Amino acid sequence: MQALTNRVKEVNRKPMSFMEKLYLPAIFKGMAITFSHIFKKKPTIQYPEQKREFSPVFRGLHVLNRDEEGRERCTACGLCAVACPAEAITMEAAERLPGEEHLYREEKYAARYEINMLRCIFCGLCEEACPKDAVYLSETFAPANYTRKGFVYGKEDLLIPNPKTDPQGLAEARGQHI
Ligand code: SF4
Ligand code: SF4
Repeated sequence: MQALTNRVKEVNRKPMSFMEKLYLPAIFKGMAITFSHIFKKKPTIQYPEQKREFSPVFRGLHVLNRDEEGRERCTACGLCAVACPAEAITMEAAERLPGEEHLYREEKYAARYEINMLRCIFCGLCEEACPKDAVYLSETFAPANYTRKGFVYGKEDLLIPNPKTDPQGLAEARGQHI
């Protein structure tokens, strides 16, 4: 029969010896490898009781930042969405109304801000593009979810807790522990 490539290798159909037919040497060899691993340091950890140290350059779940007075920093300029290579960010801008100065730092704010975590590749370009220090990637990660919709994070999921009213929640959102 004509070969399709020049990488054809003839199969060795040599009859098995008596020892090979017993399979015992092969079984003992396999068991020896298994036992040799028992005394090695285990790479698995007991999550969630145990947690691994994150790398200093780890980029996790996004956080929408507030200023020191608890006002939203985002001014809905759209630079993060333009910078995003995965087109994961969607937003709608709105004008700040008189009396809302304690809620929004700038005259324009994001009435809707969504990040699709299934599209996101955690590259951090949105964080770098933001001129207002409003979005950054924290040291936590998006928890598992049962639906695709559950991975579309809205403003209520992303906004950092108010530093004035909830400092502990703020530290936890940043992946710190106080
Ligand atoms: S981390 Fe990268 S992929 Fe994810 S939202 Fe930001 S820019 Fe887009
Ligand atoms: S997060 Fe930053 S870059 Fe994105 S819309 Fe808000 S202010 Fe602009």
